[in-house]
Amino acid sequence: MITRESCIERDKQDEIACFRDEFSLPEHDIYMSGNSLGAMPKKAMAKAEQVILDQWGTSLIKSWNIHGWFTLSQTIGDTLATTIGADAGEVVVTDATGINIFKVLAAALTLNPTRKKIVMEGSNFPTDNYTAQGLVKLLGDKHEIVFAETEQGILDAIDDSVAVVCLTQVHYKSGRLLDMKTITEKTQQCGAISVWDLCHSGGALPIDLNACNVDFAIGCTYKYYNGGPGSPAFVFCAKRHQGKALQPLTGWYSHQAPFAFERDYRPADNINQMLSGTQAIVSLAMSEIGIDISARADIYKLREKSLNLSDLFIELIAQECADFNFNVITPKQRERRGSQVAMSHENGYEIVQALIKAGVMGDFRAPDTLRFGLTPLYLRYVDVYDAVARLKNIMQNETYKQAEFNQRQAVT
Ligand SMILES: *Cc1c(COP(=O)(O)O)cnc(C)c1O
Repeated sequence: MITRESCIERDKQDEIACFRDEFSLPEHDIYMSGNSLGAMPKKAMAKAEQVILDQWGTSLIKSWNIHGWFTLSQTIGDTLATTIGADAGEVVVTDATGINIFKVLAAALTLNPTRKKIVMEGSNFPTDNYTAQGLVKLLGDKHEIVFAETEQGILDAIDDSVAVVCLTQVHYKSGRLLDMKTITEKTQQCGAISVWDLCHSGGALPIDLNACNVDFAIGCTYKYYNGGPGSPAFVFCAKRHQGKALQPLTGWYSHQAPFAFERDYRPADNINQMLSGTQAIVSLAMSEIGIDISARADIYKLREKSLNLSDLFIELIAQECADFNFNVITPKQRERRGSQVAMSHENGYEIVQALIKAGVMGDFRAPDTLRFGLTPLYLRYVDVYDAVARLKNIMQNETYKQAEFNQRQAVT
C-alpha cells in the first residue's frame, strides 16, 4: 500500500530535489506537461531583461561581437552536447525541429545517393513524417518512405537497399524507448545513415550519440531542456560528416566565410554548415538557462528519479484507479521507457480537461491517450500521489461527464 506519507519521505531522501527551486511553478497546480512545454526557470526574467534591455536596447548591433550573439548557436550547442554524448563542435542550437529534420535528412540522403529508401516509424510525431514526405516530393518522388512499427519491425525493415533510417528515440505518445545502439549498428552494417530525433529523450535520459556512432541527430529544447515556448531546436552532425554531408538550406550562416560576401556558395567545413541564417537571438538566449540546468544535473540521477516517478504513477493507477478502465500503454520495463506515462481511455479528452480544472496539467493525444510528462528536475513523488488522487476523485464522481469538459480546444 503506497501512502502519501511514504511519498513525502521519498522526497526528503531525493538527492536532486534542490533543482525544483530553480523553476517557477504554479502553487496549487501539478505540472505534468513538461514533455510538451518545460517549466520556466526562475532566472528567465532576469535573462530577458539583460538580453532585451542591456544588449539589444543598449549595445545594439555591437552585441553581435561583444555579447557573443554571432556564435551563440555554437556556444549553447557545446553545452547541450555534453548532455547527449557529443563533442564540442558537433552541435548547434538553431531553427525549429522540423526545419532541422529537413536539413539532416537531405544531408544524409546525399551521403547515399544510389539508394532510395528511408525507414521511418509510421506512428511517429507527424512533423517528422510530413517533412520527409515534403522532401521526397521536392526530390522528384524518387525515394520511398518505408514505414515500420515496433522495434522488431524497424530492425526487419533495415537492409542493404536502405539509404537512411530516421527514428525518434522516445515515442511521443506511448513513451516507448528504442534501443539506439542496436538500431544504429544494424543501420550502419547495412551501409545506411542514421538520423535520430531526440525530442522526447534529450535532457530526460542518458544519451551517448558518439558511443552509438550516430550520424545525425536533432531535437527540440522546449521540452525536457526547459528552453521556453518555441525555443530553437538543436542539430548534431558527427565530425566525420562535417563539410562532406551538405544540407540544402545554404544560407550565409552556413558559408565558409559569411562576411566575405562572396557571390558563390562554399560550405563551412565545420558544424556551422548546419546553420542557415540569422538566429532568433532573444529566444536562443533564453534557451541557455534551461540547457545549463540540464548540463549541471547528473543525468544518471535524473534518469533514476524519472523511472521511480513513472513506476510510482503506474503502481498508484493500479492501487487507486483499478475500477476505471485505464490502460497503461507505456512499457512496464524500465529500460524500455522514456520519462512519461501514457494511458488510453475512451473518455480521455474529457478526463484530461477535468484534471486540468482540478489542477493537474497533463495533455491529450488523439484518439484516446492521456499523457503525463514526469520531469525529474522539478516533479516530486508527492505530486504523483496527489495527481492520481485527483484523478480517482474525478472518476469516482464522474466529474468528467459535465458538458464543459467536452468542448474541444485548438491545442489538446
Ligand atoms: C515535439 C516534437 C517535434 C516538434 O517539432 P517542432 O518543429 O518544434 O514543432 C517534432 N518531432 C517530435 C518527435 C516531437 O516530439
